[in-house]
Formats: sequence, C-alpha cells, structure tokens
Amino acid sequence: MTTLIGHEQQRTQLAALARDKRLPSALIFSGIQGIGKHGAARELARQLLCSNPESPQGGCSGCRTCSLFDSKTHPDIHELCFSGDKGATVDDIRKTLENMSLKSFMGGSKVAILNDADEISTVGANILLKSLEEPRPETFFILVVANPSRLPSTILSRCQRFFFDRLPLEALQQIANRLGLAPLNESAAALADGSATGLDALQARADMYDDVKSVLDKAFQGDATSIGRAAQEWGGEKNQLRERLAFIRTTIRKKLVENAQDRSAAAVWGNALQNALDAEYLVLERHVNPTLCILKTLQSCNRDLSVAYQTTPNQMPSLAEILLDERR
Ligand SMILES: [Zn+2]
Repeated sequence: MTTLIGHEQQRTQLAALARDKRLPSALIFSGIQGIGKHGAARELARQLLCSNPESPQGGCSGCRTCSLFDSKTHPDIHELCFSGDKGATVDDIRKTLENMSLKSFMGGSKVAILNDADEISTVGANILLKSLEEPRPETFFILVVANPSRLPSTILSRCQRFFFDRLPLEALQQIANRLGLAPLNESAAALADGSATGLDALQARADMYDDVKSVLDKAFQGDATSIGRAAQEWGGEKNQLRERLAFIRTTIRKKLVENAQDRSAAAVWGNALQNALDAEYLVLERHVNPTLCILKTLQSCNRDLSVAYQTTPNQMPSLAEILLDERR
C-alpha cells in the first residue's frame, strides 16, 4: 500500500471512527481533484476490511485480507468510477449494489468506493439512494467527489461529509522528493497549488513511481507472480503506457547507478535497462504487445540472471531478440 501524503487530521479521525465502530455507513470525501481523496478512501477501506481485530489506520499489512486488498483481489471491495467516456453505467451500479447486498465473502465488512460520484446520472443516483437509505451493518459507501453540490440533496442528506483541503507546500515538496524531482521552486509550487490537474498528475506519478519501484524489487528476487500481475495490469493501462514505460526505464537506471559497485547486480540492471529502452521503442513505435514487452523486461531484472551472465557474458538475450524468437 502506498504511503499517503497529507490530510493527517481527516485520516486519523476516520481511522478512529472505524476502530471504534462509529463510522457512518455513507461517507462523502470532497475536495479538488488530485489531492489524494481516493487514496484516503482506499486507506480507510483497507482498515475496514483488515481481519486483524486491532486493525490500525490503513490495516495491519500482515493478514490475508490486507494482502488480498493489495493484490486487488479482495472480494468485498467494489470500486466504480463515474467520469470519462468509460464511466460506470446504470448496469454497473446495479451490479455493485447487488454485490454489496450479499453476505461478506471474508466475514468482515464490505466497502464500495464511488469515484467522481458527482458525475453519476440521475437514474444512477436514484438507484444508489435506495441502498443508502437502508444501510446494512458493516457495509460502507465512500463517495469521492470534487463538487458535492452536483449531488442530489437526497444523497447528500444521507452521507456524512469529510472535506479534504488543497495539499500544503510541504506535502507537495514531499511528493516531489519521492519522485526524485528537484525541490519545487516558488512558481512551480504556486502552479501546482492552483492547478487541480497539476496536483493530480503529481500524486498519480508518486503512486506510479512507488508501484514500479516495489515491482522491480520483487522482479530482482525472481517473484514470478508479482511480475506477471504487474505486466498484466500495466500493459492494459493504455492511457498511461508511455509514462509507465518511462518510469520503468528511469527506475531501472537508478538501480543500475545504486548498484554500480556490485558487479553481478549491475550486470542485471544494465541488461534490464537495455530491455526497458527496447520495450519503449517496440511498444510505442512498433505496437508490439505491451504486456509481453513489460513482462520480458521485468523478467530480465531477476538477479539469478547475473550468474548466467557472468559465465557467458554474450548469452544475455535482448528483448528484441527474445520477441523475434517468439515470432518465428
Ligand atoms: Zn490486515
């Protein structure tokens, strides 16, 4: 789970309400785009679903439900997004509400996160209202919205509202730090503070960077399951492919620099870097299957390759060669 930046007060308050079983069943998280409302919703959901009886803020990170949550396979959390061309339809809402009305699979709470819920259709809102009017025990709805006044008053009156403010400069600096960016100067900070999309991009990039870094560490250990899952997920994110591939490349380059003294590790990261460059070219210019290219790049980060590399330095196949082989 990514460490969230900012909103300590709201997050502590929500965690305490959840711990004391005083959390209302319908919540609205409001605030401008890109400040981490969705991250806060997921943090709360992880705590609510955690099977540890003493579940701390964000969950215990040690139980099975927490790991299911992280691998996005927990059956008791449902997420919908109402914005964009592919926003949730009335059928999607019906299906989610039906799932929410069933008994919990893991024996704990059930949580639905409704992103950009202020863009829900009138029909959708009416269907949702019924579920909010008859709350079931241990069932929680979190509506993440930029503009709560766009929600029907019937829905607003059923929900307890939590306001998330703009991120202060300090938090923006932390995000910039985490991304390895130069400290924000005054104008960049002012721009980020004023621009919702700028903040959004910063926060999203921080999450993406953490995500890539943790998968690369697992790839180095030879964790085939994590590699496969990441390749599947990242290869499917068509809108973010360019940025994701660039992150993979720069993060591998960082690993190479960090491990310059360790000959065998450096050999692996050096080879992986070449593959990451190839992957960018093959995916973006030649339209080769992104999942496959990402998978091959991640596989080439495995430290066990270093043994093979040291004995037969010229045997390390490049991504282009591997893919050509498979096409033959
Ligand atoms: Zn847990």
